[in-house]
Amino acid sequence: MELYSGHINRLIEELSALPGIGAKSAQRLAFHLINMPQDRVERLAHIMVEAKANVRYCKECYTLTDKELCPICSNERRNHKQIMVVENTRDMAAYEKTGKYEGVYHVLHGAISPMLGIGPNDIRLKELMTRLESDVEEVIIATNSSLEGETTAMYISKLIKPIGIRVTRIASGVPVGGDLEYIDEVTLLRALEGRVEI
Ligand code: ZN
Repeated sequence: MELYSGHINRLIEELSALPGIGAKSAQRLAFHLINMPQDRVERLAHIMVEAKANVRYCKECYTLTDKELCPICSNERRNHKQIMVVENTRDMAAYEKTGKYEGVYHVLHGAISPMLGIGPNDIRLKELMTRLESDVEEVIIATNSSLEGETTAMYISKLIKPIGIRVTRIASGVPVGGDLEYIDEVTLLRALEGRVEI
């Protein structure tokens, strides 16, 4: 016998496919949604569909944004000759929260991982190289200090160095395996200030 109705089961199934949502949380969320007023459920569904339809990649740095250019890339006061390379938009947000970084970013949307079969062509690396054809003085590699993050940093460094652009890596104040978005702002700033040439 099915414990719940088919609709609830489908809802639980979809929710539990989301990252970080286990079977128990999916059940709790499903029942919460069922008990919400009709208009709030509709609003939530509408917001999700709208976000999916309207969010796109910034044509410069490839972060997720609503416009052609994100607010950082379109800001003339930012130093467009300094590019910080991060793995994802959340890492970019973490550095942005420190309020101290004045350059721009490049979001790779992943890291090289031979184990998972993710190669240089699966992340936004070609796009970074294209950006370097314009006037750039420094590339700061701020990928995570996981195996994938380090592999990616080394790969990028080898690619950029021959062009003659300065390549730096954020300091190891960031714990090994540390996910940038969970690290406090002071540690992030220290890592940025203590960056070294690679
Ligand atoms: Zn941008």
